[in-house]
Amino acid sequence: MTDTGGQVAAFTHVGLVRDGNEDYYGVGDDTWVVADGLGGHAGGEIASRIAVDSALRVLGEAGTTDTVSALRGAFQAAAVDIHARAEAEPAMAEMGTTLVVAVREAGGGVFVGSLGDSRAYVLATEGLQQITRDDNIAEVLLERGAITAEQARVHPGQFSLTKALGLGEWEPAVHQLSSTTGRLLLCSDGLNSELTDDHIGRLLATGTPPEACEQLVAAALEAGGSDNVTVLVVDL
Ligand code: CA
Repeated sequence: MTDTGGQVAAFTHVGLVRDGNEDYYGVGDDTWVVADGLGGHAGGEIASRIAVDSALRVLGEAGTTDTVSALRGAFQAAAVDIHARAEAEPAMAEMGTTLVVAVREAGGGVFVGSLGDSRAYVLATEGLQQITRDDNIAEVLLERGAITAEQARVHPGQFSLTKALGLGEWEPAVHQLSSTTGRLLLCSDGLNSELTDDHIGRLLATGTPPEACEQLVAAALEAGGSDNVTVLVVDL
C-alpha cells in the first residue's frame, strides 16, 4: 500500500491463485502509472517495472513539452527499454506489458494514455465513467455488437490482448478527462474482471483514497482473486 498523504493511494496484491505479481505501479509528480506484465513470471514482472520506471523518468523530464507529446514519448521510451532488455536476455524474449498513465497539467487538465487492458475510470458528479478502451478481443466483439458489456467482462477474449507494449506496439490511445475534479482510478484487469463497473463505482466512492483502495482489492479477492490486482486512486 502506498499512501501519499490522503490524496493518492495505491495497493497491489498477488491475488489468491498466482504465484507471482506481474503488476506494478508508480507515482510521480502529478503522474500516476499502472502496468500489468506478461510473458512468463520473470519476464512479466520485469516488463511492468521497466514500463513504469521509463514512463515516470520521461514524464519527469518532460518539462513544458505538450502533454500529449510527452505521453507518447513515455510510451515509446518504455517500449524501447523493454525491447532492449528482451533482446539482451533470451529468456525475456516474450515479455510485454500493458501501460496506463495519467498526467495532470499545471492548469489542472488531466490526460490518460493507455495501451493494453489496464483501465482508467473517473468518478465524478455524473457517476463512474470508463476512460480507456481495452485492447483485447472482448472489446473488439463488444464494439462490433456481438456481445454485451456484461458478457465482455467474463468472455475468454478478455485474455487475448490485441496490443502490448514491447511486443511491436507502443502508440497509446490518449484521452483528456472532461472534468478536472473527481476521483481517478487506474487498475489492472484483476479488478475489473472480478467486479462489475457498478460494484467498482460504489467501492471507489468509499472514504479516503487508501480506504477505497482497500475496499476494491478486498472485493476482488472475495470475488475469487484469480489474477494479480492493482488499484491506484487519486482525488483530483
Ligand atoms: Ca492481469
